[in-house]
Amino acid sequence: MTAPLLPGHPHLAYRATPSGQDLYLEGARLADLARIHGTPLFVYSQQAMLDALAAYQRGLASRIEQGKARICYALKANSSLAILQLFARAGCGFDIVSGGELERVLAAGGDPTRVIFSGVGKTRTEMRQALDTGIGCFNVESEAELDVLNDVAVELGKVAPVSIRVNPDVDAKTHPYISTGLKGNKFGIAHERAVAVYQHAARLPGLKVVGIDCHIGSQITEERPYLDALERVLDLVEAIEAAGIPLHHIDLGGGLGIDYHGDTPPAADALWHKLLARLDARGHGAKAIFIEPGRSLVGNAGVCLTEVLYLKPGEQKNFCIVDAAMNDLPRPAMYEAYHQIVPLAPRDTAQASAAVNYEVVGPICESGDWLGHDRMLTVQAGDQLAVLSAGAYCMSMASNYNTRGRAAEVLVRGEQPTLIRRRESAADSFRHDILP
Ligand code: PLP
Repeated sequence: MTAPLLPGHPHLAYRATPSGQDLYLEGARLADLARIHGTPLFVYSQQAMLDALAAYQRGLASRIEQGKARICYALKANSSLAILQLFARAGCGFDIVSGGELERVLAAGGDPTRVIFSGVGKTRTEMRQALDTGIGCFNVESEAELDVLNDVAVELGKVAPVSIRVNPDVDAKTHPYISTGLKGNKFGIAHERAVAVYQHAARLPGLKVVGIDCHIGSQITEERPYLDALERVLDLVEAIEAAGIPLHHIDLGGGLGIDYHGDTPPAADALWHKLLARLDARGHGAKAIFIEPGRSLVGNAGVCLTEVLYLKPGEQKNFCIVDAAMNDLPRPAMYEAYHQIVPLAPRDTAQASAAVNYEVVGPICESGDWLGHDRMLTVQAGDQLAVLSAGAYCMSMASNYNTRGRAAEVLVRGEQPTLIRRRESAADSFRHDILP
């Protein structure tokens, strides 16, 4: 096997074949999967997910041994049932943001007592559902939500375990749409209000305060924002406990960023060793630690396979029109995100001189439907491409826009591929429409 394509994609590599080179994910030849299942097709490496999880497990090992750490996979990143089952079996809890996600966790065999419920807009129905199911903790995001959760719990004769999401006002230095820990964001309770809000929560009969939570953003590639957020949260922990409210756990929110395009996030194990050392140094060695990683567990485990439909040369730009689109891969249109795009079977080097600069675009009727700008590719119609780093926030954000059925998904274990989601038909997408 030749060298991996990206440091972040350890299980993706070209293998030499008599006719050239073919791209493999673990032991599966991606061109075979595209032929069998069609395109667009998401393919995930099980080993890449387990390796990514293992880095967090190593970092938190000392607390895990004492039963004082919980890795709650944030399933908004990829909520495929097979992936949830994999993480549940590997010992994960789950971070959910809707009643629908709770149903998914249960359908995949997840343990409800290891579920935490985040999000600014939980409905009463969702609160009831989560209380009836017996989830581990509600991460409450506003004073108004505390009061409503208290009402719902009292109505049901239950006590809701709560942690309050505080806003540490730390700049995560990420894209503004996925930065969540600044004062201007809609998330969490302002640092200055935190003690008063905890005092209010502690007086409500339907609530039991169990922890504190923060989440400063996603795709964070530096360690400084985490270290700064921890210090700010610990200042609050000390103030809240001094006010007579003990806290059982500290939840530090989502996980690290991933390598999309030469990004160099810190290793999860090294970062967590540092964070635990600071917790110990400040006298919080006995507290349980929760984390909610999403992207870093699945992002670089997945690729999206797509076929080149047409090449369209233009005066200013050349377009490479592929069969995957913004409904399958929404991140470029949403955040101008970069995904590396590579051929499944690169043409030989003599032809590589014919590489052309393309805009790689999908078939959807929006100028925003692009997957990559300025990509040098040697391709012909009918060639297949892989869009890399497509395991997180792609399929879970996919839609039926333009009445396009959502793509199929395959999970690879060694040489063994397993279909984990069938391709949606057009009829699936209008199944709930009603003709008057
Ligand atoms: N927890 C919360 C509350 C989130 O909003 C998110 C995503 O933004 C996550 C966890 C997962 O973050 P990431 O995918 O960056 O690990």
